Amino acid sequence: MKEKLLDLLACPTCGGDLLLAYASKYDGKEIIEGVLTCKKCGREYKVVRGVPRFVDLTKIEEDKAETAENFGWQWTHFTQEDAKYSEQLLGWLQPVKPEFFSGKIVLEGGCGKGRHTKLAAEWEAKEVVGFDFGDGVESAFALSRNMPNAHIVQADIFKLPFKKAFDYAFSVGVLHHTPDPKRAFISLASKVKKGGNISAWVYGAENNEWITRYVNPVREGFTSKISQPMLYQLSKLPALSIFLATKLLYRPVNSAAKPLAKHLFYNDYLNHLGSFGWREQHNIVFDHLVAPTAFYISKKEFENWWKEIAADDVEISWHNQNSWCGFGNV
Ligand SMILES: [Zn+2]
Repeated sequence: MKEKLLDLLACPTCGGDLLLAYASKYDGKEIIEGVLTCKKCGREYKVVRGVPRFVDLTKIEEDKAETAENFGWQWTHFTQEDAKYSEQLLGWLQPVKPEFFSGKIVLEGGCGKGRHTKLAAEWEAKEVVGFDFGDGVESAFALSRNMPNAHIVQADIFKLPFKKAFDYAFSVGVLHHTPDPKRAFISLASKVKKGGNISAWVYGAENNEWITRYVNPVREGFTSKISQPMLYQLSKLPALSIFLATKLLYRPVNSAAKPLAKHLFYNDYLNHLGSFGWREQHNIVFDHLVAPTAFYISKKEFENWWKEIAADDVEISWHNQNSWCGFGNV
């Protein structure tokens, strides 16, 4: 944790300012181990392995953190996919462009392993804070610790440890995995300063009836309950069918016979998926099967979220025929 992050943090319980009570391990740039205290209510929050923690730490096992750190190493050393990730992120954030980030204080709701937080930092956000509830923060920290404007926090979206200090907040593919997507969205928006902006990307209810009907029961009853290493192996089977279909059917038909492609099942999305390699496709399939909670949001519901936060100039767009992107002024 970089010390300047303190300016953006607030006690998630009382909203008071936080100060660094002490740092027992400091590497010259980052507080690796330490304790933060709330000036108002005196509650303490730990910094563990470089990340300030505002969720129950007993759930995080040491070995998991280690594995994640190893992955973090890989991600910092194999960056050939970066161009694709940035294109993908900009697709979800439309109409936002990389220049939009420049000089802004940015919050990412649900940073996972930190891929997008890192991009925002590369796009010259003044500061970018990525938070996540889960173990992803371990790798997110490893991935972004060398960037002077990137910060990672472990926090609950319903109880955010931040001041209303952000120029822009974004959340892609996360809100629909929380127990109450609309409340999560409102909570995120509450940290954006007046005149700032917010972007959100969520699964659509429209066109996803087949997932709700066929995939959801499998996910809820089985795949979200088995161990992740086992699911990792098992999910290779459906991922392989999708991989072969996208590479041998969707991509060729879309480039050779566009009018015919329209008739293919779920064409826009599967054709888009075909632009990714095996590892990424396997990852996407795994993600769809691992989540214990997933909501599919209709356009009407999504529009209501934006009304609820009284956003102006809201632009809602339909993405890959299966999801909604929104951008608005808070
Ligand atoms: Zn407090």
